[in-house]
Amino acid sequence: MALWKKILIGMLLGALTGSFLGEQAVMLEPIGILFLNLIKMLIVPLVFCSLIVGVSSIKDGKKMGRLGLKSFVLYLLTTAVAITVGLLLASVLQPGRGMDLATSITAPVMSEPQTLIQSLLNLIPQNPVAALAEGNILQIILFALALGIALSQSGEKGRAAITALESLAEAMYKLTAMVMRLAPVGVFGLIAWVAGKYGFEVLLSLGSVIIAVYIGCLVQVLLVYTGIIGLLARSNPVLYLKAIINPAMVAFSTASSSGTLPVTIRHAQEDLGVSKSVCGFVLPLGATINMDGTALYQGVTALFIAQAFGVSLDMVDYFTIITTATLASIGTAGVPGAGLIMLSLVLTSVGLPMEGLAIIAGVDRILDMARTSVNVCGDMMVSMIVAKSEGELEAPSAGTVI
Ligand code: ASP
Repeated sequence: MALWKKILIGMLLGALTGSFLGEQAVMLEPIGILFLNLIKMLIVPLVFCSLIVGVSSIKDGKKMGRLGLKSFVLYLLTTAVAITVGLLLASVLQPGRGMDLATSITAPVMSEPQTLIQSLLNLIPQNPVAALAEGNILQIILFALALGIALSQSGEKGRAAITALESLAEAMYKLTAMVMRLAPVGVFGLIAWVAGKYGFEVLLSLGSVIIAVYIGCLVQVLLVYTGIIGLLARSNPVLYLKAIINPAMVAFSTASSSGTLPVTIRHAQEDLGVSKSVCGFVLPLGATINMDGTALYQGVTALFIAQAFGVSLDMVDYFTIITTATLASIGTAGVPGAGLIMLSLVLTSVGLPMEGLAIIAGVDRILDMARTSVNVCGDMMVSMIVAKSEGELEAPSAGTVI
């Protein structure tokens, strides 16, 4: 049986078991955590090796600049589209209309988002080993980029290190495939825990906002991404839809796009035919800075809060939300719940009540699962477009799991 079918079964069984067990489903959480930890174990070595191998294989500096620029522009544009989809949907569906929200609710304590200058300065690892040890992905990317460039310019002397890293990267891909065999069981544990924790009551009370976010996510993937692929890559969107199944399901159950990265890289290479050098560069970057699903969610929830609290927004406010959410999504870490913290930034930018955060926090995990899947699908779409434009979209290799 194909892996995605097994994962789907794990998901459904998890939802059933979780609803049946209720609070007690928490005892199944360790199964999910086991899988999560195994995937996390892969991230740092995989990103580090594959990025250096990818970068050092790009001999020409201009090409590197082009890759970076193309990915960055595409990432920003698709994020702006995503948040616009979110705003449009929330204006049409009006998930917050008629809600009478008590202002006595207190906002959860959130850590302060960083300023732009701080985030830029923090990109440079003062100690690369510490960055690797802490799993600071952006710093790792920066160091690996620099090291990759240096190695490719070191001629024969750099060859040995590149070969060693190449073989390590290969082994990391193998290890990813091995860990993925456990995905159905891991997903079962994670979904059972979420279903047990939330139950139906919470879902019903905030059903409208959940539905709006889920519809938005489907629109983004099924219309926007497939549309872009058809137009720009001139390739069959069905190929793309098949390739995203496994990564999307892992993202859905783990709510972490960084955590899903090994799976994303593997399927972009095997099922989409994106070359290793493009994957190694574009996907780790995307997992950290491209958060279309998060931006979409921020659009829907900001409007939901405005509607629920009876605050009216004008065109300037909409524009402010689009800009802030696009920038905030760059700074959002690919870990569970990060988007909620960034939502505070968006709310502040247009003066919406922070109490709204407390309400959204109640169902955030459920929204997080959908938005993380979109984040990952968006990264894969951009990797495909960039590869196509560089003439590096190969025929998908055989032996895939779909
Ligand atoms: N969980 C999301 C991700 O990992 C980030 C977010 O909270 O929006 O992509």
